[in-house]
Amino acid sequence: MNDLTTVERMPRAELERLQLARLRALVARAAERVPLYRDRLRTAGVRADDLRSLADLRRLPFTVKADFRDAYPYGLLAVPLDEVVRIHASSGTTGKPTVVAYTRGDIETWTHAMARTLRAGAVGPGDVVQNAYGYGLFTGGLGFHYGAERVGAAVVPISGGFTERQLAALQDLGATVLCCTPSYALHLAEAVEDAGLEPKDLRLRVGFFGAEPWTEGMRDAIESRLDLMALNIYGLSEVIGPGVSVECPERRGMHVAEDLFLPEIVDPQTLEPLPAGATGELVLTTLTKEALPVLRYRTRDLTSIDPEACPCGRTLVRIGRITGRTDDMLIVRGVNVYPSQIEHALLQISDVAPQYVLVLRRDSALDTLEIRVEGQAAVAAAGADAMRALAARVRRRVHEVIGITAEVTVVPPRTLERSIGKARRVEDLRG
Ligand code: ADP
Ligand code: ZN
Repeated sequence: MNDLTTVERMPRAELERLQLARLRALVARAAERVPLYRDRLRTAGVRADDLRSLADLRRLPFTVKADFRDAYPYGLLAVPLDEVVRIHASSGTTGKPTVVAYTRGDIETWTHAMARTLRAGAVGPGDVVQNAYGYGLFTGGLGFHYGAERVGAAVVPISGGFTERQLAALQDLGATVLCCTPSYALHLAEAVEDAGLEPKDLRLRVGFFGAEPWTEGMRDAIESRLDLMALNIYGLSEVIGPGVSVECPERRGMHVAEDLFLPEIVDPQTLEPLPAGATGELVLTTLTKEALPVLRYRTRDLTSIDPEACPCGRTLVRIGRITGRTDDMLIVRGVNVYPSQIEHALLQISDVAPQYVLVLRRDSALDTLEIRVEGQAAVAAAGADAMRALAARVRRRVHEVIGITAEVTVVPPRTLERSIGKARRVEDLRG
């Protein structure tokens, strides 16, 4: 509790005053320096002085991913290029990557936000941070790197992949903290088991996992197999990278760094703001960014906001697990379904492993969904009949939970492709 920064414990009224002051400064700067925002603010008829309370946020125009692509590469910059000290890009999960830029001040803000993220897991001097997020254009690697150095931990900048080397580093360097995608954490857990090691042979204590959707079932699997506390982290390049929000050890939602990023939830169809607790699209406004300020960025990520006080002492609101992206949604024979719902259903069955791929096809006019999921070793050992029986159970469960009849194939353990970064769970062959 004492380790929390003042801002993390700030009374709401005071925090909201700070947010409003920053919001007004942001709008003034955006209007002055970025043609796209100047035009949109003029069309919306809003000036910085018109913002009298945070409720006026809804009067501001939205920004979408296409705006970044249209302005590629530097069209949204609010500073001349000679004030930019770093350039990153989004992973391009859903198309052409978007390019983002940082001033020295932005790097400082980001480092500070990442230090807060790591401190949520009590990371500090004496900790060894194995940072297996990819280094490079992706924001994950360098974001965690700077944060880890700032809290005084020893960072191992190993980047993603090279699983053998990761394993050696985990053992030899005695990492206490692991940073990577949840799918890669599971992959590492398998490698640990394959090497005949047990979690107690390692010193891991806490892990920061994000950059892709995952479920509580995945968390349980990672925590038990690596014997650490798995914290969910969320962020995106267009807003800054990781550092937007992180779970505290209560693990009931991720606290948003609200002094830096103002969150809202809107209905993705009507774009009207939704009340606390309602699920919708997360919209973020950057309150202090210099190079690339963003007004009401539509993240396309679905979640809800919980404003209730948290036992950890942070007064910052929490967002729930991201259940999917609006553009991740699969429509299978008229039913809307997110991969995470399927993952959730799968992981209720203890005989399956948390490794799956969803394959969509169109046979004549009909969509079919095939779920390929790995069985646990014991089932595979029991033979083909056991695998088929398990497939039937999975099919029933998926039907019960999401109302879709899927073709289910249970495959032997370790046969589906493993990812080193964001997992690719969906193969859409419908053309
Ligand atoms: P891209 O949109 O190309 O994947 P980024 O690398 O910036 O670009 O990734 C940000 C996206 O990753 C978010 O918009 C979100 O969809 C996903 N993401 C990040 N953290 C999480 C998380 N903890 N849970 C679910 N999804 C996440
Ligand atoms: Zn908390």
